[in-house]
Amino acid sequence: MIKAPDAVPLPAEFSTRVLRDVPMAKHTSWHTGGCADLYFVPRDLRDLAAFLRQLAPGVPLLWVGLGSNLLVRDGGFRGAVIMTHGALGRLARRSATSIDAQAGVACARIARQCVQWGLGAAEFFAGIPGTLGGALAMNAGAWGGETWRHVVEVDVIDRRGTTHTRPPGEFRIGYRSVIGHDDEWFVGARLRFEAAPGAHADAIRDLLERRKQSQPIGEWSCGSVFTNPPGEHAARLIDSAGLKGCRRGDASVSAKHANFIINHGGARAADIEALIRHVQATVAAVHGISLQPEVRIVGEPA
Ligand SMILES: Cc1cc2nc3c(=O)[nH]c(=O)nc-3n(C[C@H](O)[C@H](O)[C@H](O)COP(=O)(O)OP(=O)(O)OC[C@H]3O[C@@H](n4cnc5c(N)ncnc54)[C@H](O)[C@@H]3O)c2cc1C
Repeated sequence: MIKAPDAVPLPAEFSTRVLRDVPMAKHTSWHTGGCADLYFVPRDLRDLAAFLRQLAPGVPLLWVGLGSNLLVRDGGFRGAVIMTHGALGRLARRSATSIDAQAGVACARIARQCVQWGLGAAEFFAGIPGTLGGALAMNAGAWGGETWRHVVEVDVIDRRGTTHTRPPGEFRIGYRSVIGHDDEWFVGARLRFEAAPGAHADAIRDLLERRKQSQPIGEWSCGSVFTNPPGEHAARLIDSAGLKGCRRGDASVSAKHANFIINHGGARAADIEALIRHVQATVAAVHGISLQPEVRIVGEPA
């Protein structure tokens, strides 16, 4: 069991750099949620390994990239948050068609850089407002592209701070689902794309422009809340169940895209979670289909 946060012992080299009681509302795209007991931004991979090595084995870990698929409950997270964005940020070309990227690199940066390198089929990353680590954990995808179709191998780190390189065959990969070894997290990957000498940034701009027509971009959300059931669209099911605009506190089902839940400014995580449960119950009653959340819900209720 984790001890009370102040009692988690930290050696001097980390005691000033590990923050305590950090509001996760500042680090998630829903802009709500309680505090993390401990919050650590490593300087680099070696620093991350040293931090993990000294941490008591019972302290729960929450890995966060850009928090674009994450709801932290109002009571916060009793453990240590490890932030990869702004930390593991190396991106380099490896061969004619492959790249090396660390987990904290924003997906949009991968998309833009690949265009500059004359690599195609990476444009879909521009539609994912998260990090590569989050995209690997979620098998994020957009516009027909999907993260793990491009993975040559991944680097993971365990609680002892040891890194391992693993091929895709060691993971069970599905639609927005990735199951790997217990207690290992992504620190980087090698990805393969296609040679596309004519690649141009306009292609990305067009895709993003099209997205703006159908999604409430710019509002506080986590993108699609539910995965699409086989052969169906969650948004269609939610819309036809009459749920567009449905509200709990300051959260509502988007009128523009029914699979988005918007925080209008003052929503608590409990409002969003209550709306998620209400949408699930209503869609089950109307359509007989059980919607599964795509967003990850963690932490303690208030
Ligand atoms: C406006 C909007 C549009 C979106 N559109 C899409 C879309 O088209 N397609 C799509 O797939 N998603 C979409 N998303 C959801 C989200 O951007 C993706 O799921 C993204 O991959 C999450 O990355 P992140 O870095 O923000 O992860 P986070 O939200 O920080 O974390 C998500 C999950 O991944 C885990 N995780 C994060 N980093 C690591 C790591 N290094 N190792 C292990 N686990 C880790 C976290 O613990 C958590 O369980 C959208 C979100 C928004 C806000």
